[in-house]
Order: sequence, then C-alpha cells, then structure tokens
Amino acid sequence: AMQYPDLVVVGAGLFGLTVAQQAAERCGASVRVIDIRDHIGGNAYSYFDEETGAEIHKYGAHLFHTSNARVWEYVNRFTEFTDYVHRVYATHDGEVYPLPTNLGTINQFFRAHYTPAEAKALIEEQAGELAGTDPQNLNDKGIQLIGRPLYEAFIKNYTAKQWQTDPADLPADIIKRLPVRYNYDNRYFKDTWEGLPKDGYTAWMERMVADPRIEVSLGVDFFDESQPFNKAALQAAGVPVVYTGPIDRYFDYALGDLKWRTVDFKEVRYDEDDHFGCPVMNFSDADVPYTRAIEFKNFNPERREQQNHERTVVWEEYSRFAERGDEPYYPINTEADKALYERYAELAAAEPKTVFGGRLGTYKYYDMHNVIDTALTAFDEQVLPLIAD
Ligand code: FAD
Ligand code: UDP
Repeated sequence: AMQYPDLVVVGAGLFGLTVAQQAAERCGASVRVIDIRDHIGGNAYSYFDEETGAEIHKYGAHLFHTSNARVWEYVNRFTEFTDYVHRVYATHDGEVYPLPTNLGTINQFFRAHYTPAEAKALIEEQAGELAGTDPQNLNDKGIQLIGRPLYEAFIKNYTAKQWQTDPADLPADIIKRLPVRYNYDNRYFKDTWEGLPKDGYTAWMERMVADPRIEVSLGVDFFDESQPFNKAALQAAGVPVVYTGPIDRYFDYALGDLKWRTVDFKEVRYDEDDHFGCPVMNFSDADVPYTRAIEFKNFNPERREQQNHERTVVWEEYSRFAERGDEPYYPINTEADKALYERYAELAAAEPKTVFGGRLGTYKYYDMHNVIDTALTAFDEQVLPLIAD
C-alpha cells in the first residue's frame, strides 16, 4: 500500500509553505507539498533576468509590507529585507503625479499652493455631495475620499481598466487601503515594516521548505487521479490535506463559478539604463490600455553593480476577466460573488480532513502578510488537531 505523509499541502504559495514549515518544525510531521506549476512560491515567485539582472516578479509586482509583529518576526527567519520603500507615480493627461493622493498631487492638479488645512477644506467641500453617508461601493467611497475631480482623474478610469466592472458594483474596501494625505508624504504603504527580500523572493521561499521532512513535487495537479497525491486517493486514505487552490474548483464548480480577474503582461525592453525613473508607473487615463508598467531593475537599486546599465526590462500590465484555465488573480467580490463564496465555504466546512486557505481557497483579496498570518492561525486552530491525531 501507498505510504502517505502526515500532511499533504496543495499549493506551494506562501500559505502552503507556511503551513508545511510549521508542521515539520513544530510536530516533526512529514509533509508533501504539491503544485501544478513548475516552481514554488505561488504568485510571489520571481526569477532573475539574464540580460538586465532585474528580478522579475512573474505574477506581477510584489512588495512586502506589514504591521503585524508575529508575521514580521516569522518572515525574518528566512530572509533579510532591503530598505526599499514603495512609491508610485501616475501619468495623467500628459503629466506625472505622485500617488497616493497627497498634497503634492492636489497642488499639482489644481495648480495651487494650498497648505494642508486649505487642501483639506477644498477636498471636504468637493466630497460634500456624499457628506454624512457611509458609502458601500467603490464609486461613492472614492468621491467621499478625494472629491469628484481627483476621483475622475486618478481612480475612475484606472479602476475601470483594472476591474472592468462598474465602480458602483465594486466593494468600497478595494480602495480603502489607498490613503489620502494632506502633506507631501508619498509612501504607498503605511505599515510599520516594509522591504524586499534581499536575495529575492524565491530564495526566501526555498529556505522555508529546506527541511528534510518536507518534500515538494512540482507539475502535479491535485485533481489528476493518475498521480498518488490526488483528492480521491487522499480522502479514501484519510490523509489530512491543506488546499490552497480555487475553492470552486475543489467542488467541481458544483454551485457555479466564482468570478476572478486575471492579468496579462506584455514585456518591453529599452536601450536605456532607466526608462521611467521609478519602479511603478500607473496610467490613469482610458487611452493607455494597460493599468501600469513595472520597471523591475528599479526595485533593487542596491544591486546596481550586478545590473546592465544599457538595457532595461518593463512589463505592461493588462487586466481582464479570468476564464476557466486562466490564472485567477483578484477575487471580484460583488455581493453575488460573496454570497456564492459563503455557500462554498459551507461545503468546505463539512470536509472532515481538508483545511482551505490562502487567496484562492478562501476567495479573499489578501496580501502576502495576510496570507502568512492566516496560515499561522489556521495551522494552530485547524491543522494541528488533524495531524496530532
Ligand atoms: P498562491 O500564491 O496563488 O498559491 C496557490 C498555489 O496553488 C499556486 O502556486 C497554484 O499553482 C497552486 N494550485 C492551484 N490549484 C492547484 C492544483 N489543482 N494542484 C496543485 N496545485 C495547485 N501581496 C503583497 O503583499 N504585496 C504586493 O505588492 C502584492 N502584489 C500582488 C500583485 C498581483 C498581480 C497579485 C496577483 C497578487 C499580489 N499580492 C501582493 C498578493 C500575493 O500574491 C498573495 O497574497 C499570495 O501570494 C497568496 O499566496 P497563496 O499561497 O494564498 O496563493
Ligand atoms: N487605484 C486607482 N488608481 C491608481 C491606483 C489604484 O484607482 O492609480 C484603485 C484601483 O481600484 C485598485 C485599488 O485602488 O484596484 C487598489 O490599488 P493597489 O495598487 O493597492 O492594487 P494592487 O496592487 O493590489 O493591484
């Protein structure tokens, strides 16, 4: 008979790797991690580009940031972080503005020299049409945050390109995380800790599973019954499973498909050292078909000695609805999607030896630090009791 490990983890993203690492370290459990892709790391995976020396984040730009001490302590066991601080610029109507909306953006946009108090009064007046309401959708929330003129310049078209959904049908919390500042601080994130992994994302995540009790099998599909770690076989043998793939796929889409957005990247190379002068340039207007462009070299100025100074690589990001078979990236999360997810979550709760986690397994718009935090909690509360049996 097949000798199964103590735990099978489906998906070598940050959720799966965190659970695998904890199971091996804290319980001495034998763990098999499988992933359908040919690399570990899930969407945080990166590789080094030979020509330019840039670290390319294969599934889109990934910036690590957190205010959670448990998570920060945990990730620092596997990697050091650079002192990178994320800053984003936006091209709108032939000009480049700093984001997120701050006093620099406001004064440039209104050709003014407002003080913080004056700018605040102006935006409050412009947001006045929604004063005293509690906006539930992205359109109203955006207008309430920055007023209609700035909303229409920097949010409306960008959001339409990114989500292809009427902003009135999108949840407000998508942009709650974008701050508005009445000073010149243009840090994108307001977390306590921020940085990029010193030797790259993949080196970080390889160290998480550098334990002889953890085995990783790549190019393996959980639903392929010709491989030993498939859903039916593991269920029959009663092996505990942590599943981080799409929750609707797990149940063979029995209740219908959850909606996702995917991203396509178009690579462009320039005979220049630096094309944008920053790592991320957003394009706010409808006439540029992509949402943003990523110039990877600029994430790691500390690697300048190892980089090519004559060439640079840029990825333009195009967003669209995901069909089955596309990479599901962002849960769309309309009210109907949330209701459907709740019905899948009920099915998931009834699966005796399977724990669902991560962005895909719980249909949540999670950052890396959220994924690690929820993985540590899920390990304690759900996985530990299963493998202690
Ligand atoms: P994933 O990384 O998606 O891992 C799930 C794994 O399961 C995948 O490797 C997949 O191949 C595997 N899998 C699925 N189905 C099967 C199957 N049937 N059999 C076997 N394996 C399977 N977070 C930040 O903190 N900062 C950022 O700047 C940031 N930027 C982002 C930009 C983009 C474009 C995207 C898409 C995400 C971004 N994130 C960012 C979020 C971050 O990627 C996620 O929070 C995190 O990587 C999710 O980890 P996970 O383990 O839940 O899922
Ligand atoms: N957003 C926008 N204009 C911008 C940047 C962001 O309207 O220039 C909105 C958009 O709706 C987006 C959300 O803010 O989905 C969150 O942006 P963020 O950059 O945090 O998204 P992510 O990096 O996760 O794609």
